[in-house]
Amino acid sequence: MRSFFRDVPMELWRSYRWQVQNRIKTKEGLKRFIELTPEEERGIDMTEGLYPMAITPYYLSLMDPEDPLDPIRLQAIPRVEEVDEGVQSLGEPDPFREEGEIPGLTHRYPDRVLFTLTTFCAVYCRHCMRKRIFQNGERVRTKEEIDSFLDYVRRHEEIRDVLLSGGEPLSVSEEKLEYVLSNLRKIPHVEIIRFGTRLPVLAPQRFFDDRFLDILERYSPIWINTHFNHPKEITEESAEAVERLLRRGVPVNNQTVLLKGVNDSPDVMLELFRKLLRIKVRPIYLFHCDPVKGAMHFRTSIDKGIQIVEYLRGKISGMGIPTYAVDLPGGKGKVPLSPNYIVNREGSRLVFRSPLKGFVDYEIKECY
Ligand SMILES: *Cc1c(COP(=O)(O)O)cnc(C)c1O
Repeated sequence: MRSFFRDVPMELWRSYRWQVQNRIKTKEGLKRFIELTPEEERGIDMTEGLYPMAITPYYLSLMDPEDPLDPIRLQAIPRVEEVDEGVQSLGEPDPFREEGEIPGLTHRYPDRVLFTLTTFCAVYCRHCMRKRIFQNGERVRTKEEIDSFLDYVRRHEEIRDVLLSGGEPLSVSEEKLEYVLSNLRKIPHVEIIRFGTRLPVLAPQRFFDDRFLDILERYSPIWINTHFNHPKEITEESAEAVERLLRRGVPVNNQTVLLKGVNDSPDVMLELFRKLLRIKVRPIYLFHCDPVKGAMHFRTSIDKGIQIVEYLRGKISGMGIPTYAVDLPGGKGKVPLSPNYIVNREGSRLVFRSPLKGFVDYEIKECY
């Protein structure tokens, strides 16, 4: 796994700081490890200053240097399609109208609020739904911005669930993290706090630090929603990160995005979800790829997603089948999509298509 970095001592390899400080951010840096294709070279040149690149040594070590279509490469190395107007013109920088009055705060569902803590990420995913923020540089919310968010939550008693996202929310300093969490915990109506973090996938070393885990444990209940997209991302290190979180009482759930060329295959998804269950991560959502400018080339059809969840049913525990969902543009909410198993209905007589084989008549006798 560490083929490119065999000489790096284990203490450094297991250090989150080392992983972040040694991120590969230039074409020349990347060429030391990987023979780039012309599409990738042009991709890096043409996205410069618009959609920057950064890749942790750990995530780079998962790439196949021989295969330009490697799923890790597709998620981390810029390609020309990102700036191809023909492909991207139908996308919007912010299709969900996330930007509102308080910077970083989106309050769409009454009981839940989303707040982005920073624009920094360990790796800039090429399919990011918030690609628009890449251009702001690596900027962490100031104390004043955090205070106006906290004030908002205090004033809205209907908020039970605070979702901290980014960028990479768990990349902020321990002091800032503790400031946000301790203040949120002083608000009686805040029941749960969630982090949308991809660090278990991109730099799992973050969770090898007991002092950092102490903070997460202290402000329980904290949940983590992470973002594994491909079975190759489930490694000894990512499994260790998850295990350490679970031991501290932090449940880890997964939100996959359906991406063309990366995971738009029923068998890849089946393997991904089986491997997630083995490391005790529950796949909760499979998201349809959003119409975000710069990421349009990753989009597949809705039928593809339905076909995948239909394929999974019967082949893996129900715990391993996520809800396939599409986020409606304009901030109109997430909608679950499911194959239809009712093929006919006459009053209380239904005909179901079995996920195993054949059809089943089922009279639903009313007993109310
Ligand atoms: C997705 C999302 C949430 C959380 O939705 P869940 O279904 O509870 O995971 C909350 N706020 C916003 C703005 C969102 O986009």
